Amino acid sequence: DKLRRMVRTFRVKMVLLGSSGVGKSSLALRFGKDEFRSASPTVGCAFLTRVVHLSDVTLRFEIWDTAGQEKYHSVTPLYYRGAHAALLVYDISRRETFIRAQLWLKELKKHSIPGSIVIWLVGNKGDLAEARQVPVEEGQALASDTELFFTETSALSGDQVSDLLLGIAHRVYECIG
Ligand code: GDP
Ligand code: MG
Repeated sequence: DKLRRMVRTFRVKMVLLGSSGVGKSSLALRFGKDEFRSASPTVGCAFLTRVVHLSDVTLRFEIWDTAGQEKYHSVTPLYYRGAHAALLVYDISRRETFIRAQLWLKELKKHSIPGSIVIWLVGNKGDLAEARQVPVEEGQALASDTELFFTETSALSGDQVSDLLLGIAHRVYECIG
């Protein structure tokens, strides 16, 4: 079994998109190292890697974080190029980031071949229940209208983060496997 896994390894490029401050870098850090830092983390390199084992394949995730270009809405097409998965992140406590997620989606669709990329809508900061501005039903509705997958997460507590990565791994494998 171990031998088969070694033979069947895929590289998976995953990109994080969304407004500044929604928690992209924090999620990347959770995925890559299962850590949280309260000071805004900079990944400091092109991407973090994380290996995920499924029953008959190993996926080596390259998790790409922006270097803050999203502030100027100037994420380069090179960032999306060849991506197998994209996380469209918003902050459940800031409605404008949810509106913006819909613009990011258009942008992403312009630059990717339909069916070749797994797109996941992610409502982050699920721990901020008191400050919630986007009901979970709204996230679900947007996802089903635009045929995306959907999860709410908390990079702070780690809630749903590993399930999300596993979910993405399964969908990506369905696409490329
Ligand atoms: P980015 O600009 O999208 O990369 O966002 P960052 O990862 O830099 O996070 C922006 C701020 O939100 C930082 O102060 C983080 O500590 C905080 N943050 C990130 N994720 C969460 C979360 O799940 N819950 C809470 N309460 N704060 C978070
Ligand atoms: Mg960041």
